[in-house]
Amino acid sequence: MGPPCLKLKPQREKSLLRHHPWVFSGAVAETLGDPASGQSVEVFSSEGHWLARAAFSSHSQITARVWTWDEGEAVNSDFFRRRIEASVNRRRELQSSTDGMRLVNAESDGLPGLVVDRYGRFLVVQFLSAGPEYWKGQILGVLQSVEGISGLYERSDVEVREKEDLTQVMGVLWGESPSGLVEIREGPWRFLVDVQNGQKTGFYLDQRESRQAVQGLVADLFPGGSVLNAFSYTGGFAVAALAGGAASVVNVDSSGAALELAKKNLSLNQLSVASEDFIEADVFRILRKYRDSGASFDMIILDPPKLAPSRSQVMRAARAYKDLNWLAFRLARPGGCVVTFSCSGAVGEDLFQKIVFGASIDAGREVQILSRLRQSRDHPVRLSFPEGDYLKGLICRVEA
Ligand code: SAH
Repeated sequence: MGPPCLKLKPQREKSLLRHHPWVFSGAVAETLGDPASGQSVEVFSSEGHWLARAAFSSHSQITARVWTWDEGEAVNSDFFRRRIEASVNRRRELQSSTDGMRLVNAESDGLPGLVVDRYGRFLVVQFLSAGPEYWKGQILGVLQSVEGISGLYERSDVEVREKEDLTQVMGVLWGESPSGLVEIREGPWRFLVDVQNGQKTGFYLDQRESRQAVQGLVADLFPGGSVLNAFSYTGGFAVAALAGGAASVVNVDSSGAALELAKKNLSLNQLSVASEDFIEADVFRILRKYRDSGASFDMIILDPPKLAPSRSQVMRAARAYKDLNWLAFRLARPGGCVVTFSCSGAVGEDLFQKIVFGASIDAGREVQILSRLRQSRDHPVRLSFPEGDYLKGLICRVEA
């Protein structure tokens, strides 16, 4: 008996031929050989042509995720060593300026379902689907040998695992425990990261380049200006804006723990803001309060959580994005900037721009886009996998 196989329905091989890495259940005609979840399967077209070798997932709508399009390439511990090393090597140049970075970005690095983030001496790992879960032991073996690492920590406490019939788990996988806070450096800055309790794997590494953009924008346009940092989390943009020369940054977040860490991050960088400029509250409510009181700012940063976790929530999310941006345009001084983000993959760049445009019209402001922002380059997007493109931002200037 040969290895387990998937046979596709007629005409359903096109996306695989174009190296899109997902096989949806609706494309599968037959599953042969009773594969276990996570086990490798050979994928064939309806005409019997070999197409790919993929990780089977018995529960998900995504029945298989491709490991390789090379029939001669076996999936084993050597395979994971090669793929992970290549992925780490692609980030070599970043390592001189930071020790906080994404080392493996799942599908876009040829390792579907696997995310590895580095925070100093620690690697934080997410096993998001059945494939990497099946090969966990081999993957951990490779990660232990990444240069300069003394501990591996798992943050697979994510809902998507439930679609794969996997439970949410977190904890030490190997070596030292990252108990307390881990310090990373990012260019001239230092940040404390709560790897165990923080959001995602602890820090918004994907906003690194946007932090630099914010610093530059404040330095060029608003030295001595006032900034409203909405959805501040642990103060990444606050550090950037103050380093750029802002006189004040108001930080609003619903998480008190995140704001406490934001305070620590400011002092770690010899920066400070008034204690009343850390506000634990709902951003929507605070923006309305500012509007009612006639407050204004030189720069408003809007970095909300993923408001559209799936396609079915796009309409509702669009209303929330519009509301936020409308309020921000109302609060921006003439000549001021709104730096606005969406990390919802389901809200594409065009739609996001339309929403922001609608908000500007309703706010009665003429607005220019000065530049566009994206997820940092350690979160690359494989062209064959546009789903990997999730974070977009616009630097908008309100006409004086
Ligand atoms: N800008 C941050 C990341 C923001 S993540 C950075 O660069 O690090 C989104 C943040 O929004 C989280 O910290 C979360 O606690 C907060 N949040 C979610 N909903 C909120 C709401 N309605 N009001 C205020 N904060 C909210």
